[in-house]
Amino acid sequence: MIRDFEYFTPKTLEKALSLLDKYQDIGKVIAGGQSLLILMRQGLVAPEYLIDIKGVSELNYIRSDAKKGLRIGALTTHRAIEKSPMLQNGFSVLAEMERRLASIQTRNWGTIGGNICHADPAGDPSPVLVALNATLKIASLRGERTMAVEDFPLDYFETALEPGELLTEIQVPAPSPHTGTAYTKFNVIESDMATVGVAVSITLDSANGTCNDVRIALGASAPTPMRAKQAEEVLRGKRITDNRLREAGEVASAEAQPISDIHASAEYRRELVKVLVRRVGKEALARAKQA
Ligand SMILES: Cc1cc2nc3c(=O)[nH]c(=O)nc-3n(C[C@H](O)[C@H](O)[C@H](O)COP(=O)(O)OP(=O)(O)OC[C@H]3O[C@@H](n4cnc5c(N)ncnc54)[C@H](O)[C@@H]3O)c2cc1C
Repeated sequence: MIRDFEYFTPKTLEKALSLLDKYQDIGKVIAGGQSLLILMRQGLVAPEYLIDIKGVSELNYIRSDAKKGLRIGALTTHRAIEKSPMLQNGFSVLAEMERRLASIQTRNWGTIGGNICHADPAGDPSPVLVALNATLKIASLRGERTMAVEDFPLDYFETALEPGELLTEIQVPAPSPHTGTAYTKFNVIESDMATVGVAVSITLDSANGTCNDVRIALGASAPTPMRAKQAEEVLRGKRITDNRLREAGEVASAEAQPISDIHASAEYRRELVKVLVRRVGKEALARAKQA
């Protein structure tokens, strides 16, 4: 049962930040409520003040700029990202990821910012954003700051947000030439959370086709979405072959810190990481060659 709370519906960022500042210890932000309401119904979270930011329209946008890259307001819904024509120039992996996130009903109401702030290690957007080297913009009455998306989750359902802070924007840099990014998740039930998710981004040298840069991000494989940095080193600076991708998968599997739960054993998750890094890496490589 949900405990009683006082409910605010600010319509501007300024108002939302003042309420958040005033009630920072006993208040909670709600956006689409797709994750928070479940926790409230289970009695795991019982805020005395609920600050509903869904009506703060200034945080609902997708902007694309050839130099700056992509800017997504925190209140943009999953469905708006999935359907946006702005994602065509190098960001289509975000739409592919969104298409497999939850059901259309949940995507219609849940927001990208809410998903990131919920910090479920099995969430889909964060590994993709880590592979894309995205940055988060965070605001409070004290001012603004930015941080790499990979530094934002601290532990299971824990983030680097300080009291009074709101995530306002996701910033994705324009990809370098000859960059390909791909994502997939293994899940048993269609539209369900990932048992394991893997995102890989590869940038090739235009002169000799070797790997200039690579980012491998794993979801549901550790307490937070994580970079498999040792696996990246297997590929960086080298020509990427099937054998190297296989080796990268094996190294990533050893780096992962999965748990056993009702969805899968830790051993099974390690096996998934091994296979998916190779498979997704192959797809990212093919895309980089065509980019
Ligand atoms: C049936 C179902 C299936 C799902 N399947 C998937 C799936 O396959 N993959 C996946 O990744 N997710 C899945 N989810 C999770 C869900 O889609 C997301 O977590 C959801 O989109 C969160 O967004 P929201 O706007 O609803 O956040 P809310 O539930 O409103 O908030 C979530 C948390 O973030 C905080 N918060 C929200 N916005 C901000 C902000 N701007 N700044 C600071 N804090 C903020 C809230 O205080 C709360 O702690 C599923 C959910 C359901 C109900």
